[in-house]
Amino acid sequence: MSISQAIEKVEACYAHQPEFVQAVKEVALTIAPLYDAHSEYETLKIFERLVEPDRIICFRINWENDKGEVQVNRGWRVQFSNALGPYKGGVRFHPTVNQSVLKFLGFEQIFKNALTGLPMGGGKGGADFDPKGKSDSEIRRFCYAFMRELHQYVSKDIDVPAGDIGVGGREVSYMFAMYKNLTREHGGVLTGKGVGFGGSLMRTEATGYGAVYFLENMLAVQNENIKGKKVLISGAGNVSLHAAEKAHMLGATVLTVSDSQGTLYDENGMDQEKIDWLKNQKAQSKPLCDYVDIYGGEWFTKQKPWHIKGDIAIPSATQNEVNEDDAKLMVENGIKYIAEGANMPLTADAVDYIRLHRVHYAPGKAANAGGVAVSGLEMSQNSVRQYKTFEEIDERLKRIMKNIHDCAAEASEQYGQTDDGYIDYMAGANIVGFKRVADALCAYGILN
Ligand code: NDP
Repeated sequence: MSISQAIEKVEACYAHQPEFVQAVKEVALTIAPLYDAHSEYETLKIFERLVEPDRIICFRINWENDKGEVQVNRGWRVQFSNALGPYKGGVRFHPTVNQSVLKFLGFEQIFKNALTGLPMGGGKGGADFDPKGKSDSEIRRFCYAFMRELHQYVSKDIDVPAGDIGVGGREVSYMFAMYKNLTREHGGVLTGKGVGFGGSLMRTEATGYGAVYFLENMLAVQNENIKGKKVLISGAGNVSLHAAEKAHMLGATVLTVSDSQGTLYDENGMDQEKIDWLKNQKAQSKPLCDYVDIYGGEWFTKQKPWHIKGDIAIPSATQNEVNEDDAKLMVENGIKYIAEGANMPLTADAVDYIRLHRVHYAPGKAANAGGVAVSGLEMSQNSVRQYKTFEEIDERLKRIMKNIHDCAAEASEQYGQTDDGYIDYMAGANIVGFKRVADALCAYGILN
């Protein structure tokens, strides 16, 4: 079956899963030259196999709220591919979570993890639970209940979940506690654990910092530097605020962050004090707009950041947050570089538009791979029970991000995706990630 027939099959079977179809099509359309050069992929039906997860585990989560009322949520773990290592990918708690979203995230994760060069397969999980407005006790009871169901399907050598939207250090700790309680095993079943009990230094910062390291590599190719550049960031969570922090540390001016309520704009730039204030404010679930009373700037209710002029955009909130109109605004407002902090934050039309206008564009599976890379390092540290310093991990992260950048750029050139010197990082990253997984599957024969 050719790639185009495989796409048709996915579209026919999964028309009700738009995010998943979108992610599959993006990969499929860019790997065609690689596929054509490797007839064994078609013979062994590699693409057709890779678009079906190994399995999807669905479960019910019963828990009790503070009023003593029984609540019921739906949970999933998509174990997509363990060709390169144990299934690895985050857990998302958000009311929009469904099978389409988790399958798109799990599918992306396979290639992202392959790009890191570390031995990790791809998976993703989550629940349609809304953490907003919940007390700490409710969050704790929910996390316990979630892991009570999930624990039988995960372990340090089978499937290693981590955080994502709505799941940070607190939630990982509660889930780890329940896993440990049920299995009596204190190991590396989850990453993003507290540093005092098996977590890696720098895991919290890794995704945002890694995205900025990726950007530095993109800028260097164009003989440019991040210093003095104006940066627009969307989101105000883990990825966004650490991207803001690193961009500021390297001399950029961070003009915006945003959340589901609107966008915060500070023309003077957000320095470390302001970023610390933002972290603290979000940790207490308080509104971003309070910033204006303390530090000045402007608040745009229910607006995205893209109407503001800048040089670099780091969309870091959620999937499909940047549509074609937003992409047009970005181009009009001078954006020359986009590094995706979030997974698939640009719609397919937005990607087409910015590539057509030669905006240098790093897709999420390359630019935000720093988080899972440090998770991979956490798994190794757990196995050998020896821990590295912040500086050692930071150095490793920089090397991994440079390696992903260089491999993607090289593949883009090799498979003829570039004209006029434009590096097609999307095609390059898809080709490198896909090839690593496909070659492993070919070596296994028809199992997996
Ligand atoms: P967080 O939960 O820490 O933060 C998410 C942020 O995005 C919040 O500010 C939230 O606003 C905002 N947001 C979410 N949905 C929307 C929406 N529909 N419209 C506007 N704003 C929205 O999540 P993370 O920072 O961990 O994750 C952000 C993205 O990065 C996700 O796509 C995730 O998959 C990806 N990612 C995360 C990694 C990690 O290590 N954490 C690793 C790799 C990728 P509000 O607070 O108002 O809800």
